[in-house]
Amino acid sequence: MKNLFFETCLSSLIILFVHQNTICQTTIAKWQHNKKGAISITYDDGIPTQFTQVIPIMNKLHFPGTFFIVTGDIKGSLNHSKFIGRPVKEIMNETKTITTNKNNFFERASAAKFLGYKGTEEYFFKAGSLYESGKLQEAYKTIDSVYALALAAALKPGIDTSYEAGLSAQNSWSEFKTFASQGHEFACHSLSHPFMAILDTPNIRYELQKCKEDIRIHLGKENTFSAEVPFGTEDERVMKYVLASKFFEALRNKMPEPYMQEINRGYKEQPGTSQQEYVQWQRGPLTKTPITLMKSWIDTLLAHDNIWLVLVFHGIDTLGWQPIRHEEIANYFQYMKDNEAGLWIATFKDVTKYMRERMAAKITEEKTNRNITITLYHSLDASIYNLPLTLKTYIPAKWKNITVQQNHETKKINVEKDAKGKYILYQVLPNESKIMITGN
Ligand SMILES: [Zn+2]
Repeated sequence: MKNLFFETCLSSLIILFVHQNTICQTTIAKWQHNKKGAISITYDDGIPTQFTQVIPIMNKLHFPGTFFIVTGDIKGSLNHSKFIGRPVKEIMNETKTITTNKNNFFERASAAKFLGYKGTEEYFFKAGSLYESGKLQEAYKTIDSVYALALAAALKPGIDTSYEAGLSAQNSWSEFKTFASQGHEFACHSLSHPFMAILDTPNIRYELQKCKEDIRIHLGKENTFSAEVPFGTEDERVMKYVLASKFFEALRNKMPEPYMQEINRGYKEQPGTSQQEYVQWQRGPLTKTPITLMKSWIDTLLAHDNIWLVLVFHGIDTLGWQPIRHEEIANYFQYMKDNEAGLWIATFKDVTKYMRERMAAKITEEKTNRNITITLYHSLDASIYNLPLTLKTYIPAKWKNITVQQNHETKKINVEKDAKGKYILYQVLPNESKIMITGN
């Protein structure tokens, strides 16, 4: 009797020749379901019309969204924005003799909204914008002027709420919980939507960690994966601190993956020239962005195989920054639906998980005349990185009826064909039991 033909190989991403005439037949598809590219539809600031006008459209199309919310003023939140540091009176007194400079700027700016006066938010906002645009001396002067007003008691007593915190606060945690149960992702956008580029690290930490804590308490830990530091900041000091602190698995502002090129909202560069494994291409449609341009982003994605289009929406209809009419969004989403054969539409969290799992995964494969046995493992935290991966396995030409079994579950799989031969596509879980492909 002829010995059973037996082969083993190891591969993560590429087909690996282990010895002459022996090819590993299994690869992990670049995107789930072997689509051409991925789209994450994200929304900032928890603007009520995102939920009343757009979620119904998304639910009808079965599109999941990711909502970055500001939690400090939502009714029932346990954590509210405050200054973490010395008594503000002490800081105010120092401003009488020492003008603002690079050594005291972050502390003073962090305390500026908490001096006990209304109208301070406006100065904080101005100082943040100036600092982010590189006008440091003007930013210092702005902080000096708000402290001078507070010392002179020239403002009305009270505390300001930011525009964005006020918008998020028009929703309730119970509404958010319902949307989360429908498959939408919620994510942290801080307690009070500050310019973090002008906060010191204790206040950056407080704004993010306490936002995360309220989301975990009200919506569960599956909604604590992603975050966006407000105003799309790429401030080096803030990014370095937040990434090193590992408060979140993923930041929309910046991801550290060496295999991914990032083109953020403000950049004009086009994807398609990069040799990187993945390109995260963020686009933020504004009130005047033509729908034809928005649709062309989908066409660009479909013309390549490595693009993750991350859409960043703000205002809808009459509420929020740079609003877009919900009818236009419905038209845009219908275009995505019409092209869904090539698109993987998933939350920011799921696309991140898929890429990281795929890049960290190792496959082993053993083959006999009737079976292919596969193991699929990665070294990431398996309690978080548990999204099914799509495998593509080439099968012997004579096999017709194929089943795939994992964890005592057996599925019949359709056979497909390309220039290289017959193959199957199937979804399996990493770090679980062996995968058995049977054919006859
Ligand atoms: Zn925002």
